[in-house]
Amino acid sequence: MLSKIIKQADVDHFGKWLERAEKIVIVSHVSPDGDAIGSSLGLWHFLNAQGKTANVIVPNAFPDFLKWMPGSKDILLYDKYKDFADRLLAEADVVCCLDFNAIRRIDAMAGAVQDSPARKILVDHHLEPEQFAQIIISHPEISSTSELVFRLICRMGCFNEISKEGAECIYTGMMTDTGGFTYNSNNREIYFIISELLTKGIDKDAIYRKVFNTYSESRLRLMGHVLTQMRVYADCNAALISLTKKEQRRFDYIRGDSEGFVNIPLSIKNVVFSCFLREDTEKPMIKISLRSVGNFPCNRVAAEFFNGGGHLNASGGEFYGTMDEAREAFEAALAEYKPLLTAKP
Ligand code: 5GP
Ligand code: MN
Repeated sequence: MLSKIIKQADVDHFGKWLERAEKIVIVSHVSPDGDAIGSSLGLWHFLNAQGKTANVIVPNAFPDFLKWMPGSKDILLYDKYKDFADRLLAEADVVCCLDFNAIRRIDAMAGAVQDSPARKILVDHHLEPEQFAQIIISHPEISSTSELVFRLICRMGCFNEISKEGAECIYTGMMTDTGGFTYNSNNREIYFIISELLTKGIDKDAIYRKVFNTYSESRLRLMGHVLTQMRVYADCNAALISLTKKEQRRFDYIRGDSEGFVNIPLSIKNVVFSCFLREDTEKPMIKISLRSVGNFPCNRVAAEFFNGGGHLNASGGEFYGTMDEAREAFEAALAEYKPLLTAKP
């Protein structure tokens, strides 16, 4: 049995909306990841099974390794089909906001979502959600939004209406937001949910291979290059990797090629804090990704040094300046946080 973490009033409230709603739009965050797409499609499959007209809209493209997911071809990209997406949002009865806590995380879609007369529900697991929806189901203690979607559907009494396709999407989100169940994954109920998803006929081993083992040759060579250039700050138990635009061109970089790189330095003994700096190709900025293990709060570093935020162990931000300046900012952060980084657990 799953514990009932979602408030009964919210389950009932959403159930009532669904009874009356016909047109439902699901939106998720910019640069959608496995959990954004997994939770959105998981809900989408369920709503379709309920006979609703549902559409998933995301701000921009998602990585190729998610394109096998059932329903992914029907996802609307806002940066390509803005007018159509604006119309869907304006005409929706309900808008479901999944896997983001701040309206600016949906980028150019923010205005259309805010202006939509639809009822809005937020289902998310990031800290400190903004209050832009009437129903807010926010559980930072849960490792993925996909898991919350599963819990919500079950609480509405609809486990039987989850299809194999929907189960595959939910599993993918749970798997990607925990690095294949290697972090944020000690809640035993995760494994109860997986066993329930397996009853739907999903092939979890095949899903793992489709998501994690489909890299291009150039991505693997890029990874080798980035790791050769890595800096390790052994006195601070930290490491830094970076990727300039020039290097991106040299290795035929396409969006998503550096997905997961930030986790690799954490496989070095004693390294508990990892930073990845990537020069953005669209905006004049450096995208920062931070990861930690244990109780080191990389979201505090993201907020203090990189105009960002996120979770305790996975956070990010943006830096406006050169690569050298970004590295210096990281080194300043190390100097400030050295006591925490070197504290004995
Ligand atoms: P990633 O490193 O995968 O891009 O981001 C990891 C997490 O950090 C995200 O799930 C999100 O919570 C947070 N994050 C990433 N970029 C930003 C940002 O620019 N601003 C804020 N506030 N959080 C971010
Ligand atoms: Mn997520």
